[in-house]
Amino acid sequence: MTGRIHAIQTLGTVDGPGLRTVIFLQGCPLSCFYCHNPKSWDFSKGTLMDVEEIIAKILKLKDYYGSEGGVTLSGGEPTAQAEFATELFKRFNEHGIHTALDTAGPILNAAVKELLNYTDLVILDIKSANPSEFHHITGGELSHTQAFLNECITRGKKLWIRQVIIEGLNDDLAHMDALAKFVHGIPRELIGRVELLGSVQNLIVLQNQFRIISNNKSSICSDM
Ligand code: SF4
Repeated sequence: MTGRIHAIQTLGTVDGPGLRTVIFLQGCPLSCFYCHNPKSWDFSKGTLMDVEEIIAKILKLKDYYGSEGGVTLSGGEPTAQAEFATELFKRFNEHGIHTALDTAGPILNAAVKELLNYTDLVILDIKSANPSEFHHITGGELSHTQAFLNECITRGKKLWIRQVIIEGLNDDLAHMDALAKFVHGIPRELIGRVELLGSVQNLIVLQNQFRIISNNKSSICSDM
């Protein structure tokens, strides 16, 4: 089976635990106005690669992953190529390699449910906890992300929750309050980490505010 790859990054340290290879799949159904990589949107672009070709690459790197690391599928939006992603994750599982899915959760269908069967960690990027703002940012619907999240919760999936903080958009306490309420709907034991990502000046203040509002015991970190 082949899939469309946007890029492969080795020695990644931010998209999941430990040292990881991050495979960015081509194509995204959303169109976030702050997207750092719009070249990853078009489903007809990217490089066609075979599952076996990727497995061979990953197995050469397996020793570097140690006990914590592994492979993260990111994008674009990896659930948009769910069958291909499932074949990769199945094979990684067979080789004892940890699998993480970095997603905005816009799709929940039978193929995505199958993909979750082989996913060790879901890194869920909550673009906004407010439905109209979510639509404004992404062109998509928060209800789709919520449905994906509900499926993860039902299955007891480990989650890292992310939100990108943009100056003048959501870098205020009202947005931290909304995010905290959203996160509050997730069983605490499933949340490994909440990450507020961005380069806004008051990120530390926002992180502290989020921690206070949500009484969050999980780690909060930034990617500056
Ligand atoms: S979900 Fe990610 S890849 Fe897709 S448009 Fe938004 S930021 Fe870009």
